[in-house]
Amino acid sequence: MEAFPWWSSRHIELAKEIEEFADEHAHEAVKALWKRKYPLELLDEVRRRGWFGALIPEEYGGLGLGATGSCIAAEGLGRLGTIAHVYTTTMFGGTEQIMLFGTEEQKERWLPRIAKGELKGAIVITEPYFGSDAAGIETVAVREGDEYVITGKKRFITNAGLADLYMLYARTSDSPEDRARYRHLTAFIVEKGMEGFSIERVNELCGWDGLQNGYLNLDEVRVPVDNRLGEEGDGWRIMVSGLNYERTLVAASALGPIRDALRYAVYHAQRRVQFNQPTISFQVNQFRIADMIAKLKTARLLTYYAAYLLDRGEEAVLEATAAKLYATEVMEEVTKTAVQVMGGDGWMKFYPVEQLYRDAKIFPIIGGTNEVMKIILFRQGLRALREELKPPVMLIDPELNAPLPHFKVKPAEPAELTEDKLLETLAEYYKANPGLYATLEELALRLGAKPEEIAKLALELEKKGLAKTYIDPRRKAVKMVRPTYKGLKKAKPLEYYKYMPSWVDQRLIF
Ligand SMILES: Cc1cc2nc3c(=O)[nH]c(=O)nc-3n(C[C@H](O)[C@H](O)[C@H](O)COP(=O)(O)OP(=O)(O)OC[C@H]3O[C@@H](n4cnc5c(N)ncnc54)[C@H](O)[C@@H]3O)c2cc1C
Repeated sequence: MEAFPWWSSRHIELAKEIEEFADEHAHEAVKALWKRKYPLELLDEVRRRGWFGALIPEEYGGLGLGATGSCIAAEGLGRLGTIAHVYTTTMFGGTEQIMLFGTEEQKERWLPRIAKGELKGAIVITEPYFGSDAAGIETVAVREGDEYVITGKKRFITNAGLADLYMLYARTSDSPEDRARYRHLTAFIVEKGMEGFSIERVNELCGWDGLQNGYLNLDEVRVPVDNRLGEEGDGWRIMVSGLNYERTLVAASALGPIRDALRYAVYHAQRRVQFNQPTISFQVNQFRIADMIAKLKTARLLTYYAAYLLDRGEEAVLEATAAKLYATEVMEEVTKTAVQVMGGDGWMKFYPVEQLYRDAKIFPIIGGTNEVMKIILFRQGLRALREELKPPVMLIDPELNAPLPHFKVKPAEPAELTEDKLLETLAEYYKANPGLYATLEELALRLGAKPEEIAKLALELEKKGLAKTYIDPRRKAVKMVRPTYKGLKKAKPLEYYKYMPSWVDQRLIF
């Protein structure tokens, strides 16, 4: 595993150990997949190595290697099939939340045992009727004295049955105000063995052979208040904060399989001879392999950068979301391409690539679907990059008679606004921004007037057929304006709008 320059010597050491471990035990992991039996002995070996403590601070018996350390473990264990998922789910299914939101008593009670690998975790959000819409969940928790009574069904839960601690979110308030403020959910650690807590169904999966994933039934499970993380109503905050770490770790666990898909594709293509030459000598396969290498490198960089930011205490929403989106898409692409490079052999169970190909499909769905990742990136990314994406002011250059972008334009001095002035500015905007509506803010900058005044006057121009407004459907107010043909004609002579490149044959212009 290639180390990054910012890793500590302990991170590098961990990467070496885990890589050797994966080399040594890969055949056992693949054998378990063939048999669809979970390799519990191998998991026990991971436990003995202490890697479940990678994220946990040393004072609680962990290795104190942070998000970066746990990503290194996830990448290495990602080469061992489903071993990685028990590991990663334990990390984001309780461990991280206890570290960030647990009381001292809760940390001492659970973290040392998680670090030793004695307690495995599960993350319990999804329900039969609520998936992407996680805030809508219906499982309820009602306080009765020192206990909460939890009732509901959860589904798609990885490690169902194998886990000891279930990081579960339930609804504790039905008040519309709490719902509007996302204060309606509360986080709990529900423990295996609590009365009324059972597994309803173990799912048959398309991949992750042998890994238990299932439905949980909570029939008036009495959970002590001591098992609540944070305060009542903190559930959404805890869930969302955990998701950035979860997404980074999901990305990391995709890296091992990406690397293995590349490894098998190269291995096969170097040894498969067709038309008297190894198939790797065909440029089409070389280009496929080149693409895989580029994508592996980029996915690793993005993932470990997100982990680095998390270790610095930053939220890393955009980086974690982008890492999850990118690495999981790369996993789908690379495993599919590896099968193609290997021809029919790629689809046979005799090489482990078909398993990677099947497993890859779930990565863009877990930890929030990749469509949800794009919604987050669009909404939060635009907000976060506001400065970087500062819009230009397009102005007609007198020499070229063509628009050029300007980023340092002084706002016009406050001035009286008239219909003629607004129309003239709209005409100039038309020439400099062909086909676009002008925002009220842009017009305010150019006219030295308030956006509300401009909106009012724009509506007047619209009544006269000189302009057309765009009404913001949410605010039900003018957001943008453009001139009409009539408006353009009134504002400037036809000559003003003309632009003819110097190479144009004047005889063809009229
Ligand atoms: C193998 C496996 C393991 C899992 N492990 C766990 C676990 O351990 N714990 C846990 O709590 N959950 C787990 N999940 C659940 C997983 O997080 C959800 O499957 C995922 O969040 C999507 O929910 P859904 O499947 O109900 O799809 P839906 O929410 O029904 O979505 C269906 C489709 O519609 C799209 N969609 C939905 N809403 C929007 C929108 N607003 N805009 C655009 N597109 C949208 C989705 O992207 C998706 O393509 C697991 C799921 C699987 C299959």
